[in-house]
Amino acid sequence: MTQYVWGYLDEYENERADILAAVDEVFRSGTLVLGPSVAAFEREFAAYHGVAHGVGVDNGTNAIVLGLRAIGVGAGDEVITVSNTAAPTVVAIDAVGATPVFVDVHEDTYLMRVDQVEAAITERTRCLLPVHLYGQCVDMTALEAVADKHGLPILEDCAQAHGATQRGRIAGSMGLAAAFSFYPTKVLGAYGDGGATITSDETVDAALRRLRYYGMEKVYHVVETPGYNSRLDEVQAEILRRKLTRLPDYLAGRRAVADRYREALSDTDLVQPATAEGNDHVYYVYVVRHPRRDRIIAALKERDIHLNISYPWPVHVQEGFRHLGVERGSLPVTERLAGEIFSLPMYPSLSRGAQDKVVDALRDVLATL
Ligand SMILES: *Cc1c(COP(=O)(O)O)cnc(C)c1O
Repeated sequence: MTQYVWGYLDEYENERADILAAVDEVFRSGTLVLGPSVAAFEREFAAYHGVAHGVGVDNGTNAIVLGLRAIGVGAGDEVITVSNTAAPTVVAIDAVGATPVFVDVHEDTYLMRVDQVEAAITERTRCLLPVHLYGQCVDMTALEAVADKHGLPILEDCAQAHGATQRGRIAGSMGLAAAFSFYPTKVLGAYGDGGATITSDETVDAALRRLRYYGMEKVYHVVETPGYNSRLDEVQAEILRRKLTRLPDYLAGRRAVADRYREALSDTDLVQPATAEGNDHVYYVYVVRHPRRDRIIAALKERDIHLNISYPWPVHVQEGFRHLGVERGSLPVTERLAGEIFSLPMYPSLSRGAQDKVVDALRDVLATL
């Protein structure tokens, strides 16, 4: 089976000596949890974003959970976000007892309709949670204007947007706090689970540090409940430190793959990714669109090419979120796009040969639809 989702095997071959050196360094350091590698990674990751603090956590979902808790979101509060996201965005909102409120998305960029946010605000709204989907930023200038007018904090979901910029500002530096995932497929991926929440706010930083450590302010003394054990592992942190220095190369690699797709598919009727004005896209996924998506996917599968869909179901139509009572039909663009989008293989070390094979098969299939 040609499995294109996990690009890390090629990467591991290229970076093996460095990854193994990271593991060895940690195992010989004498500290396996919350030691020097996590502290150094937190400083370096925060500095990369030009913010004051970074807090390493165990995954991206908990980076959002702790981010929400740290800015004071809890039971009975409403959080405005989108439904065309990785379910964990909304799982995290649900996990703190808050209610997600969805706005629709732009048909060309798949990003949050910021112009619909104000109408979704109620007296229970406590946070705006933009998702920088597929690798480019939501219009933050417009969102900040709404946030300022209503005195609402912004928590950015940056799980797909490491290194993405908008008019000279980097994703993760614009909200009160920002959540990242280092799941292996992400733009900056660990060799296992990992996440981080970053902020320049001292109070939010202190809350994040407590919450990931059982709710303790000092060792063995809980000051806040419910707490969590949500720590980033030393081994993952040391690997991430080394990979962070190569992030510019990963971004360049992804952009080169994207450029080749755009060129090679420009004369087909596939709708290719659109970059919103002012954005630099990092292409976490290369999402294309076609009304006969399911036929295309099935025909490629017969040729042993297995493509992914990010994501086949909007969150609000999923069984586990039925209790939200958000009706089908209420987010028309989100719902229609879910039936038409699919993702082409995308990672920095994707070889030209592998990419050509996908492009050729896809062109063949499109020609015979
Ligand atoms: C991956 C992802 C998450 C969750 O991250 P995990 O590390 O898998 O928990 C949250 N939001 C978005 C948009 C994601 O893509």
